[in-house]
This record gives sequence, C-alpha cells and structure tokens, in this order.
Amino acid sequence: MSEVGVVFGGSRGIGRAVSQLLAARGHRVAVISRNLDAAEAAAARLAGGQHMALCCDVSKPEEVQKAFQHIHTTYGNVRYLVNAAGINRDRLLLRMRLEDMVSVLHTNLLGTMLTCRAAVKSMLHRQGGAIVNIGSVVGQKGNSGQCVYSSTKAGLEGFTRSLAKEVASRNIRVNLVAPGFVRTDMMAGLDEEALVRGVPLGRFGEPDEVAQAVLFLLEAPYVTGQVLPVDGGLRLAM
Ligand code: NDP
Repeated sequence: MSEVGVVFGGSRGIGRAVSQLLAARGHRVAVISRNLDAAEAAAARLAGGQHMALCCDVSKPEEVQKAFQHIHTTYGNVRYLVNAAGINRDRLLLRMRLEDMVSVLHTNLLGTMLTCRAAVKSMLHRQGGAIVNIGSVVGQKGNSGQCVYSSTKAGLEGFTRSLAKEVASRNIRVNLVAPGFVRTDMMAGLDEEALVRGVPLGRFGEPDEVAQAVLFLLEAPYVTGQVLPVDGGLRLAM
C-alpha cells in the first residue's frame, strides 16, 4: 500500500538514499532540504511519479509547521518520518564560535524534535507510524573536535528512547540509526585512507547501506526505542 514518507535532508547523502528506497517501495515521498533546486532534482529522480520537493530549514519552527501543513493538504497523514538533516562544524570546543554551536544544536537536535512533534500529530490521525532519527557513533563514543556535534547525537538517543515511550501506546515507533563513516558530502575532504584504518570492515559505508537499516526500522513492527549502529564495526575499535 502506498504510504506517505517524509525525509528531512532528502536531497543528498543518506537522506537521498532513504528517499530512493521509500519510492522504490511505492510510497509517496516528500524530499526536504534548504535548497529547493537540490530537493527537486532528488525528487525528480525517484521511482514512480508522485513525489514532492519542499524547501524548509529544519531549525525554524514556522518553516517545519508550514512544510507539514503542505504535506497534509497534498498527501494526507504521514506514515514514515526520517530525520537525516544534519550539519557538523567540527572544531575544538575552545575554538568554536557561538553561532556555530547554536546552528549545530538547532539543526541536529531541535530540528528533529520539531519534525517529530509535527509528524506525531499527523500519525495520531492515522493511528500509527514510524520514525527513524539519524545519530552517529560519536553520540556514544565521543570524539575530540566534535563536542557539540556529538552532544546533539547523544541527545538524539535520549530523545528517541523517551519519545518511543511516549507514543508506543498509539502504535507509533521511534528508532535511531547510528552510522560510522559514510561516503557523503559531509565526509568530503577528510583523509579516507587514514580513517578506514580504524574501521574493522576496512572501508567507508555507502549511503544505501545506511538507508537499508533505516528502511528495516521503519518497517519492523515490533521494534521501538532502539539504537542500531551501522558503522562497519567502528564502535568496537573506538
Ligand atoms: P549530507 O551533508 O550529505 O546531507 C545533509 C542533508 O541535510 C542535505 O540534504 C542538506 O540539504 C540537509 N540539511 C542540512 N541542514 C539542514 C537544515 N537546516 N534544514 C533542512 N535540511 C538540512 O550529510 P549526510 O547524508 O552524511 O548526513 C545525514 C545524517 O547522517 C546527518 O544527521 C549526519 O550527522 C549523520 N551522519 C553522517 C555520517 C557520515 O559519515 N556521512 C556519519 C554519522 C552520522 P541542504 O544543505 O540543502 O539543506
């Protein structure tokens, strides 16, 4: 059955790969990012015809509300939400500018809270739904140079478990995928050869490999409040 899937950060990287899998399943997908052209280009390449692209900054409450209003009017209630919009501004804490701290916190953590709040309202109407947030291995392990980023990812784990408890009785499930190194724009410019030495599987992951885990959690009817690492074993070595 064709359902409605909303993917924040769907224009690139992991979110785009998730959008592709949802579309291949026959669902209608709302592809969302700050750059409308990029979201439209990603939506146009999805399987099937009925997808939409939306411009929305996930850190802005009024934009998130407008996006969900538009999705509701056009498609109806949401069944799947994936929060793959994220940024990093990696620097030692002492060198980090306040505005960068605020944008990382507001995009990665507050943004996910805002989209989940809006999606849960919609899911209550259709008596069920599934949410997957994207965390990171550093949410649990920490990393020098990523104090703020890793705090948002650790925060998302607590948020995911708490929301899972709040909405389980309404047949809404909430889980989190925690990737390691994945070949996307976020990793561009990093020294891949050096980094993969620390990965037991000896390579970066591909966006599609993370998306498969996201799809599993969206569809797994008896799994909620869980963190699923998709990191080539990286957390074992950290
Ligand atoms: P990319 O940089 O490839 O894509 C990020 C996506 O988020 C883009 O679609 C971008 O579009 C969107 N985005 C960024 N800021 C906002 C915003 N304020 N509002 C709406 N959309 C926004 O990143 P990845 O695919 O690599 O990352 C996806 C998630 O996975 C992130 O949460 C990241 O932290 C996490 N992750 C990634 C890892 C990796 O190795 N790549 C490892 C661990 C976790 P636009 O810029 O147009 O808004």
